Amino acid sequence: MADPRIVHRRADLRQRLGTIAPGLVPTMGALHEGHRSLIARAASEHPVTVVSVFVNPTQFNDPADYAAYPRTLERDADDAFAAGADLVFAPSAADMYPPGFATTVTVAGLTDRWEGAARPGHFAGVATVVCLLLNSVRPAASYFGEKDFQQLQVIRRMHADLALPGDIVGCPTVRDADGLALSSRNARLSAPGREAAAAIPAALRAMDRLASSGETSTEAFVSAGLAVLEADPGIVPDYLAVVDPATLEPVEKIAGDARALVAAVVDGVRLLDNAALVPGQRSWVS
Ligand code: AMP
Repeated sequence: MADPRIVHRRADLRQRLGTIAPGLVPTMGALHEGHRSLIARAASEHPVTVVSVFVNPTQFNDPADYAAYPRTLERDADDAFAAGADLVFAPSAADMYPPGFATTVTVAGLTDRWEGAARPGHFAGVATVVCLLLNSVRPAASYFGEKDFQQLQVIRRMHADLALPGDIVGCPTVRDADGLALSSRNARLSAPGREAAAAIPAALRAMDRLASSGETSTEAFVSAGLAVLEADPGIVPDYLAVVDPATLEPVEKIAGDARALVAAVVDGVRLLDNAALVPGQRSWVS
């Protein structure tokens, strides 16, 4: 028998929720410990928690990447419930984007650089689906990972600008023992690729060490980080930058808090990570 806690249509979800404003954790499935930490946090703060599982076609700029994205709904639902979810919302693309759907939400400025430049249309897809999810679920709060730092800032901007419901809560990145940020994409790495990928957190750690020693110059951070990344031929760095966390514009020196953003390709898999850089302070927590 179908699990009544798994809901496939927006209309059914609204009916099930009635006047309840739940905690919401939007995901694309293939759940790992990073997602589970978001779900556990939401469940600890709300009587009802909804986890959405939707591989959103409009945020993939590469159809092969969309096709290859893992789809494991049954296991994801079990994991979500075990982590504290009450409902799993797993709509079809046709339910989310019925015939005639014609609206796209774009967030200017914050999407110009980094992932926005590397993946044209990606953030318009993300912003539109998150807007649709927030208006469909009407949560008291929605939980997103800092792992996707630019995405989190884009969502915060859209949420404030469009007066979308509930709060946006950013949650810390969950990492493997060697520091690699958990990601559904890590499953696609070969064994040597997985080893090479550890250079990404190692680069961020090296930058964090420099910041804690009092270094403030971006040039010094970037050359230290790139030296670690480039030591491993299995990694193709795309960008490594030090930015203002609010605007995501590059800074020349860090003062107060800044964010290091990194994207690199390993085995053809695009991996993202980021870390806070605070002068005179150790921020790395893995
Ligand atoms: P995704 O399923 O990849 O779209 O991710 C769903 C949510 O989980 C997003 O808010 C991500 O930022 C978050 N997330 C993904 N990986 C991690 C991680 N390693 N730690 C914390 N949150 C994460």
